[in-house]
Amino acid sequence: MSTAPIIEVTNLHKSFGTNIVLRDVSMQVAPGEVVVIIGPSGSGKSTLLRCLNGLEKPENGDIRIEDRSLMQAGVKITEIRSRMGMVFQQFNLFPHLNVLRNITLAPVQVRKQTPIKAEELAMSLLGKVGLLEKAGHYPASLSGGQSQRVAIARALAMEPQIMLFDEPTSALDPEMVGEVLAVMKELAAEGMTMVIVTHEMGFAREVGHRVLFMEQGVIVEEGTPQMLFDDPKQERTRAFLSKVL
Ligand code: ADP
Ligand code: MG
Repeated sequence: MSTAPIIEVTNLHKSFGTNIVLRDVSMQVAPGEVVVIIGPSGSGKSTLLRCLNGLEKPENGDIRIEDRSLMQAGVKITEIRSRMGMVFQQFNLFPHLNVLRNITLAPVQVRKQTPIKAEELAMSLLGKVGLLEKAGHYPASLSGGQSQRVAIARALAMEPQIMLFDEPTSALDPEMVGEVLAVMKELAAEGMTMVIVTHEMGFAREVGHRVLFMEQGVIVEEGTPQMLFDDPKQERTRAFLSKVL
């Protein structure tokens, strides 16, 4: 029995002026699947993620999230987006709000949760990312790794069906990468559907169910981590891996 994909991208095309950034990209993600996207800088990875949650509008193709097209006229992009959490390289925490308020802001303002309920969930999420004691602290007092874990908790507070990560550890000092990857690994183990752009090949191999290699706006090759890392079929994949592994 096959389950319907929770994300379905078909023949996506996106350009900025004359720069063609996504060429005929198709991909599917099953519920609970962890898909890792790798590829050189400028290959269109961020643009693809941004199309998925409606931050960029492709000229052609279709994106369906839980079988609802993002491209249809009149579709409520904010509603679909609220079902997807996104974590960026830069944490973008609100500097004037403490950690707890950073996490409760959107649930209270956007989802109209009561402050008490939002705080309950925020505290449990802070426990989950190992930062309960930081609830009253301000972002400026946090390390990069702590900030990114708060950013993950903030995204989870909207109770998303899907989490998108765009190089979540690329801005971190090396000693903090592990604590963020550990949180992501736990999320994956709980069955969260995740699409992750990363250069952490060890993580991709260990946690990814499927790895996509992108170059120049094309998904060149995809497969299980084992297939892609140990036995790449395409010369372009091999060339890329030889530089990063
Ligand atoms: P990656 O995340 O793989 O490094 P990006 O998706 O960020 O790649 O970028 C792909 C290409 O699209 C690059 O050539 C980049 O310069 C271009 N690009 C990305 N965003 C914009 C934008 N907002 N306006 C113009 N060009 C953009
Ligand atoms: Mg990028």
